[in-house]
Amino acid sequence: MRGLETVIGLEIHVQLATATKLFCGCRADYFAAPPNTLTCPVCLGMPGALPVLNRKAVEYALRVALALGAQVKRRSHFDRKNYFYPDLPKGYQITQRQVPLAVGGELRFWVEGEERRVRIRELHLEEDAGKLVHTPAGALVDMNRCGVPLVEIVTEPDLRTPGEAKEFLRALRTLLRHLGVSGADMEKGELRCDANLSLARDGEWGVKSEIKNLNSFRGVERALAAAAAWQRERLERGEEIRLATFGWDEGRERLLLQRAKEEAHDYRYFPEPDLVPLEVSEELLEKVRAGLPELPWARRERFVREYRLSSREVEVLLGEPELADYFERVAAAVGEGREAANWILTEVLRFWQGSPPLPAEELALLIQKVRKKEISRTTAKELLEEAIGGKESLERLLAGRAVRQLTDEAELEKLAREAMSQHPQAVADFQAGKTQALGFLVGQVMRKTKGRADASKLAQIFQRLLAS
Ligand code: ADP
Ligand code: MG
Ligand code: ZN
Repeated sequence: MRGLETVIGLEIHVQLATATKLFCGCRADYFAAPPNTLTCPVCLGMPGALPVLNRKAVEYALRVALALGAQVKRRSHFDRKNYFYPDLPKGYQITQRQVPLAVGGELRFWVEGEERRVRIRELHLEEDAGKLVHTPAGALVDMNRCGVPLVEIVTEPDLRTPGEAKEFLRALRTLLRHLGVSGADMEKGELRCDANLSLARDGEWGVKSEIKNLNSFRGVERALAAAAAWQRERLERGEEIRLATFGWDEGRERLLLQRAKEEAHDYRYFPEPDLVPLEVSEELLEKVRAGLPELPWARRERFVREYRLSSREVEVLLGEPELADYFERVAAAVGEGREAANWILTEVLRFWQGSPPLPAEELALLIQKVRKKEISRTTAKELLEEAIGGKESLERLLAGRAVRQLTDEAELEKLAREAMSQHPQAVADFQAGKTQALGFLVGQVMRKTKGRADASKLAQIFQRLLAS
């Protein structure tokens, strides 16, 4: 069907990396904890237990709001969203609906080098629910996640393709990691997304389909593509699109119809009576603003300008702020960024697991040795792997190599050229067909290096030099 435009808006849940939960002192890092060990009367919703707002969670949410350029409400409040589900012992979730923490703002990101901006509608704080764990014996419930702080970010429907939605989420993850407010790892559920999609015809908006709880970048892209195909098919058959909510079967890559509009929930929202309104002072706002790091889009522009990196390279580096920091340290020590980026992206990245596999100074030393042609690229790569895999520092490895065997290509070539200029007769003999002259030349270098040169490599080098 022609003239159909895809319209996409996202609702994203970000788990904040606070030490404790949103309204109680229970630890919030439930990921590896045994089930039901991080609970208390408050997060289990026992009668008479009272919530107390976590200041750190407010600060983290404000960081996100300010980074997005949103307008922070000086006074917001919490509401109860009521529903029954086995993972929700309180029978309601505390969220912000009537007056959210912040409204407006935008996220800048790039798709294949082209800049995009997506407007933010609003951003609010809320608590997470528990988790159902499905086993052959039946469903089990784990309350550790109850009360873990979330920031929900709602975008305007400004996205136009499933791929763009994926890139938006990547950029959001980069931002959240730079701000240090969340691990933003989709696989761990630290970043989750509900995606809304409709098809507009000749500028006239269509009815949206919502896909709940997407938890991988690939899932977001595939599910949106499937929803677009689903709507398109119906429109082509002349059917009407009705408001519906889907789940996503990640394994089979299929949409699962969860409910149609008629079955929509009525959450009976009302203001949370146990919490006072949230007042954000000018002081707090200033403190948070002053603590903001360089934001990814500014850093991105600086990387392109200062180091002449490509869009793709910058994206990979910024995707993990620690990797970008590492790159900057190596670039500073080398005195140049281009080579540092090459080494990090092609050689170091494979060994990267959240932290540098090799100190920045050591990598810089290696890069400098290659630049000065003191060692060959191949030798440098070997040394790098040895240094990463073993316990010895790079400096010791370099020193060890020097006394052991001379295998460095560049070094050997230098020695070979020297021998050739000192023995022009041998060169002429070889070129006249006397192949034994090669043995003579190799012997000269072996003597000079006291036998440390790698003879077979040396012979190859001579052959190459003599043939040209
Ligand atoms: P609801 O009231 O159903 O929650 P909202 O208007 O609050 O819907 O919007 C929820 C999300 O859906 C937002 O991210 C918004 O951008 C997106 N959205 C709204 N309308 C559309 C549409 N026609 N097509 C795609 N996304 C939409
Ligand atoms: Mg909504
Ligand atoms: Zn608790």
